[in-house]
Amino acid sequence: MKRLSIEERLGTTVFDQFEEPHITVDNRLCVDCVEKPCLNTCPSRLYTLHEGVLTFQYEGCVECGTCRVVCHNGGNKAVRWTYPHGGLGVRYREG
Ligand code: SF4
Ligand code: SF4
Repeated sequence: MKRLSIEERLGTTVFDQFEEPHITVDNRLCVDCVEKPCLNTCPSRLYTLHEGVLTFQYEGCVECGTCRVVCHNGGNKAVRWTYPHGGLGVRYREG
């Protein structure tokens, strides 16, 4: 069996986006977050800084939960994290 690279695996992934974000970020709390671990740990790079302001987009989230863990442990607890409703969100088609 052919071993797929991470990029090839992610290329097989399907997203059925729910209209409401399953993750929200209160970026007022991010102002005082010195380390901002979400920036370097989200595998989909959905957390970014624009002119010093933390921004987040939920489309493309692979639901790994990393941002919740790092924000609640090393950040400022700005992330509110749930799974998307009704089986929406990411669907993996390759192990
Ligand atoms: S880790 Fe949490 S509090 Fe810190 S910048 Fe990221 S989302 Fe904001
Ligand atoms: S759950 Fe994972 S992929 Fe989704 S935003 Fe958080 S770190 Fe990024």
